[in-house]
Amino acid sequence: MEKIQMTTPLVEMDGDEMTRVLWQQIKDELLLPFVDLKTEYYDLGLPYREETEDQVTIDSAEATKKYGVAVKCATITPNAQRVEEYKLSQMWKSPNGTIRAILDGTVFRAPIMVKGISPVVKTWKQPITIARHAYGDVYKSTEYRVPGPGKAELVFTDESGKEQFRQTIYDFECGGVLQGQYNKDSSIASFARSCFQYAIDTKQDLWFATKDTISKQYDHTFKDLFQEIFDAEYKEQFDKLGIEYFYTLIDDAVARVVRSQGGFIWACKNYDGDVMSDMVSTAFGSLAMMTSVLVSPDGKYEYEAAHGTVTRHYYKYLKGEETSTNPVATLFAWSGALRKRGALDGNQDLMAFADKLEGATIATIESGVMTKDLVGLWEGETPARGVSSLEFLKAIRTRLEA
Ligand code: NAP
Ligand code: MG
Repeated sequence: MEKIQMTTPLVEMDGDEMTRVLWQQIKDELLLPFVDLKTEYYDLGLPYREETEDQVTIDSAEATKKYGVAVKCATITPNAQRVEEYKLSQMWKSPNGTIRAILDGTVFRAPIMVKGISPVVKTWKQPITIARHAYGDVYKSTEYRVPGPGKAELVFTDESGKEQFRQTIYDFECGGVLQGQYNKDSSIASFARSCFQYAIDTKQDLWFATKDTISKQYDHTFKDLFQEIFDAEYKEQFDKLGIEYFYTLIDDAVARVVRSQGGFIWACKNYDGDVMSDMVSTAFGSLAMMTSVLVSPDGKYEYEAAHGTVTRHYYKYLKGEETSTNPVATLFAWSGALRKRGALDGNQDLMAFADKLEGATIATIESGVMTKDLVGLWEGETPARGVSSLEFLKAIRTRLEA
């Protein structure tokens, strides 16, 4: 069989622990036998981040800017315990945070659906993709406890030192709490563009919601910027594709999402996205079946699984025990990246391969062969057979070859 050729390399970001093991297995079983895989390899595993003082993370993000498409393995975000475990010279920052900051991107999370594992919400027939604005608001707020009676004010001093605004927030008659939040027009605009771009890429409606009736300046700015950018830059393309941009209040959106059939992108402000993405992903069944893609406003893509490095399984693997870690989200990160690379290069064969790879994966699960995490969720006709990660990948390969 002749291998599928690639013209432009994918940026490959390797990672840590159990997902690093799966990464190699996926390449060996499902990619290298079929594709003349071209990648520019960056090892984001923690030992090499330490060795390069995290420069490798920055380089991989710059390479993504250059080539346009990356695929990333899950990585450890160091904490105090990891500093000890890996003898780190510093508590390196989250690679995802670093890459997101360099690409100025928005993260889209979507569930992979299979027949036999149904969402908790009965009406959901298609995936709901959540886009979270991962900048500002309460995550960058300044806050403190108010010790006792006194006046709290909101003051803005311009660059020249001139006081522009001073407003009383509250005349405290007793102790309490106080918080200052901000966001930037530039960040909101990037978020909006990433969302519109991804809606066009995936031909899905885009929903957006805030509480603009209550927050007449702050949230209203989000609403207005989205609308302005949509009208000026994206409306025509949306009309052509027959997709819709829909704005509503956040509480109305929540109610509509639950009643919906799915099949759209839900853009969320930072806090809403934090909360709702956990709700939606849990309702769809499993973190192991959730993909994630970082999209920059100028159309650069980084694909990954939404879950982490599955540490608990890795320690079992190191002890020589057989593990049944679900490789589906990592596999779909590869297929997503290959499909996008194919689309950008006009490489039909590569795009078709990505479709076949995903099709074979879903068909394998639907035939009752799956990793053990899914067995408990299974409601299909055929009894489920829980297999190891490698057996599962081999079953997909058999299907792909046939
Ligand atoms: P995790 O790796 O997502 O795993 C949490 C638990 O979820 C696992 O112990 C396992 O449950 C289940 N799970 C997740 N993915 C699975 C899969 N593919 N197959 C089967 N079960 C799966 O989260 P964590 O344990 O909190 O974090 C581990 C490391 O990952 C941390 O160092 C963290 O910094 C990092 N992390 C990285 C990313 C990223 O790179 N994007 C994201 C999140 C976390 P059972 O143990 O019950 O089987
Ligand atoms: Mg959350």
